[in-house]
Amino acid sequence: MGRGQKLLHKCDWRSCVLAVLLLGSPAAPIFGQNAPRDPAEPMQGKPHPEILPRPSGPIARQDVDEKAMASLIHELVGCGTRISIASWTDPKRGPGCARDHILARFHQIAAESGGKLQVVVDKFEAESERTNGKPAPMENVYAILPGSDPKFEKTLFIVSGHMDSISSRWTDPVPDAPGADDDASGTAVSVECARLLSKLAVSGKSPFRATILFAVVSGEEQGLLGSKHLLEWTMQQGYTVGGMLDDDIVGADPAPGGPHRVRLFSGNGEIDDCDSPSRELARAIEEIDGSSAIRMIFRVDRYGRGGDHYYFYKAGLPAVRFTEPLENYTHQHQTPRVEYGVEYGDLEKYLDFHFMGDVARDNAEALRQLAMAPAPPREVRLKGAVTPDAKISWSAEDDPGRAGFEILWRETTEARWQIYDLVPGVGETTLKGVSTDNHFFAVRAVGKNGARSIAVPTEPAQRNTPTVVK
Ligand SMILES: [Zn+2]
Repeated sequence: MGRGQKLLHKCDWRSCVLAVLLLGSPAAPIFGQNAPRDPAEPMQGKPHPEILPRPSGPIARQDVDEKAMASLIHELVGCGTRISIASWTDPKRGPGCARDHILARFHQIAAESGGKLQVVVDKFEAESERTNGKPAPMENVYAILPGSDPKFEKTLFIVSGHMDSISSRWTDPVPDAPGADDDASGTAVSVECARLLSKLAVSGKSPFRATILFAVVSGEEQGLLGSKHLLEWTMQQGYTVGGMLDDDIVGADPAPGGPHRVRLFSGNGEIDDCDSPSRELARAIEEIDGSSAIRMIFRVDRYGRGGDHYYFYKAGLPAVRFTEPLENYTHQHQTPRVEYGVEYGDLEKYLDFHFMGDVARDNAEALRQLAMAPAPPREVRLKGAVTPDAKISWSAEDDPGRAGFEILWRETTEARWQIYDLVPGVGETTLKGVSTDNHFFAVRAVGKNGARSIAVPTEPAQRNTPTVVK
C-alpha cells in the first residue's frame, strides 16, 4: 500500500480532501487522466482552454433565514398530524392545516416579490394501499418563479419537499405524527429557496432564464402520490424538467464532528456505458456547491427506500435526493412515545438549523446557477472506434447567451468530469490521440455568464449512419 492509499484509507472526509489535494501533484494524479505507467493520452498534452468563472454573486450563507425555517416547521408540527388521508378542511389539525401555513408563507413571499412569484394549489385524487384502497383527496402547493427568457420559460427546475407526515400506524389518520424532520425540514428548504431566489429575481442580479418551481407535495408517505402527480402536472403544462431536487429528511446532523456533508443520491438508469441525467445533475450540484458540502452517493436512494425524485428519475429526467448525513430511525415514522427509556418520535428538538440552513443555501445556489444556464446540448455522439482519435459531435439551438461548449472527459473509474476543451460552436471536434475506449466523454453548454448546463454523456454514433451536424 502506498503512502497515498494509506492516507485515503484512514482519513475522514476533511483529511481526505486534503489528501486528494496533496496527492494531486504531477507524480500521483488522483484526478489526472493518465497514471504514470499507462501511455499518455493524448501524446502531445491536451488543450488548455480558458475556463470561464462560475456566475458571480453566489447566495451567501448569512442570507438564509433559519428563524423563518424554524417557525414554519413549528407551525407544521403544531398541526398534530399531516397524514394526507386526514382532513383537508380542518384549520387546526391535519394536512389542510399544513397547507394553510405553507400557503400563507408563499403568499407573503409572493407579495415581497411584487407578484413575480405565482402561487398555485393543485388538487387531485390518488389511491394506494395506504389510502385504504380508496381514492383520497390530496393537494400540492407550488410557487412558480417564471423564467425571464422566452426560450426557457417552459424549462423547469424544481425543488420539492413533502408536507405530509406519518405515525407508526400508516393508514390511521388519528395518532400524532409531528414529522419535524420528515419532511417539515424539506418543506422549509423549498420555501426558503423560494424566498431567496424570488428576492434575487426582483433585484435583477441573477436573471433566471428558466422557470423555477418551489413545490410542497402531499401523499409521499402513501406511495409518492403527490410527486407522481407533480410529474403529470409538469407534462400537462407543457414543461420540460431540467432538474428536480428532492429534499426529504434534511433537518438533523447529530453525529459528533459536525457539520457534516448532506448526502445527494442519484440513480444510474439503465445505461450500459456512462451515466444517467440524474447522475449528471448530482455532479452539477457537487461542482456548484463543492465537495466539502455535498456527499454524492451513486445510488437512487437509501437502500430499499424511496422518495419523491423517483418517478422523475424513472421517466429519464434529471432528479436527485438530498438527505441528512446519518438518519436516526427511532425518530422516523414513529408515534411519539417512550418505551423502555427510549424516546420515539420525529420531534423539533432533534433538528439542527445550522445544518438545515446549509442545505437550503446549497439547494438555492444550485437552482440559481442551473436556471441561468444555456440548454444542454443534444445528439451528443462519440465516433472514432478502431481509430486513434475520438470524435465528438453535438447539436444545439442558437443561443446568443452561450459562450460555447465544454468537452468533458474522465477515466472510466473516476466519479467526476474534467474539462478537456472549450469549443465555441456546434458540430464535431476531434480529440487527437485520445482513444474512444479508455475514457468516458460528455459535452455541456456554458453561458457567457459562466453558468453550465448539466453534462450530456456521449452515446455511440449509429453504425453506417453518418451523424448530421449543422
Ligand atoms: Zn419523507
